[in-house]
Amino acid sequence: MNYENYLSDCCKNIPRSFIREILSVAEQEDFISFAGGLPNPDFFPVEELKNGLASIFTDTGKETLQYAGSQGFLPLREWISSYYNTKYGMHTKASQYIITNGSQQALAIVSKAMINPGDVVALEKPSYLGGIQALSLNSPVFKQVSLNPDGVDLEELENVILNYGVKLFYAIPNFQNPSGISYSYTKKQELAALLEHYQTILVEDNPYGELHFKGENSAPIVGMLPNQTIWCGSFSKMISPGIRTGWICAPDEMVPWLIKIKQAVDLHTNNIVQRLIYHFLSNHDIESHLQKIRNAYGKQCRVMQNEVIKYFPEGSEITNPEGGMFIWVKLPEGYDTEKLIKIAIQKKVVFVPGRSFFTNGEGNRYMRLNFSNASEGMIIEGIARLSEAIKECEMVFA
Ligand code: PMP
Repeated sequence: MNYENYLSDCCKNIPRSFIREILSVAEQEDFISFAGGLPNPDFFPVEELKNGLASIFTDTGKETLQYAGSQGFLPLREWISSYYNTKYGMHTKASQYIITNGSQQALAIVSKAMINPGDVVALEKPSYLGGIQALSLNSPVFKQVSLNPDGVDLEELENVILNYGVKLFYAIPNFQNPSGISYSYTKKQELAALLEHYQTILVEDNPYGELHFKGENSAPIVGMLPNQTIWCGSFSKMISPGIRTGWICAPDEMVPWLIKIKQAVDLHTNNIVQRLIYHFLSNHDIESHLQKIRNAYGKQCRVMQNEVIKYFPEGSEITNPEGGMFIWVKLPEGYDTEKLIKIAIQKKVVFVPGRSFFTNGEGNRYMRLNFSNASEGMIIEGIARLSEAIKECEMVFA
């Protein structure tokens, strides 16, 4: 049978995840991986969650094992709303939140709820591959807009809006994946004003927002544009990605539409995990937990930047992240990171070639390097291997 004949166009059109393929290579022994977007497992609160699980089963076992409401566990929604309201002076209400199976599902729900085939979706250039996959579900037309060191190029975005009639702008304004770039506070305000003027919806993806290790306040834009922003957040980088829990925060009127999609997809997010996260958040100091992660990632980032600056070819450009988990490197003219990855694999080091983060086949001089899941020693050794691979690449492909 030719199974492809039975597939939907949308399934055929979703780009494959190169990252997931590299990750399976990197699982082999002795590999150093800068490819995955993996948080550092040293900071997973294993004991706290183990004890928390025992407590919730002892105290509320039957409720925990029952079906639950589609919107998500109310105390958890109240906690998220109050945490961000207090921290960033926002005015969200628990009723605006939907708890999702990670922020990846949040993006897929928004995509299913809002995009028709052919709708124009603007996004940053480069952008998160998983976001591109989720937004591809209903076959939109993508228009990528350049990302400058202080955020998206507003003039270019305005031209795209004027020329193509953009329905949604998908952005990761804090410590972006893949570039590590953050919008300045002024850029966030200007973007909010521009989108308000053109009545364009902002889909703000903010999974790294709490991982700031230097620089200015990483307030989300939703506080500046509450009536036009669908804000997606996640506990993956704050607590653990295995718990698969995130959220959507949307304007009141939109919430019932988004809940309808959530119901169609999986009825509700895992009730055990929602209660477990709430138990963890109410019994531990999340700020001191986050501070440990920020300190470690800040150090790992500096080590990686220093090694790249020392050993990569003259003319390479790297970003200078103020948080998050990635740096983004542009190699000089003539290099192709998709050729480089083949040699890098032989040297037992992997990264993600840049092309995956572009919707139009560009990006072959770029690479994404993850620093959060490697010790200082691994970073030094891995960048040394990568520099060797780059030198060999020059010889092989010159
Ligand atoms: N958005 C961005 C920008 C990401 O980098 C990721 C994960 N790598 C996600 C969303 C999805 O995260 P999760 O589903 O684990 O919350």
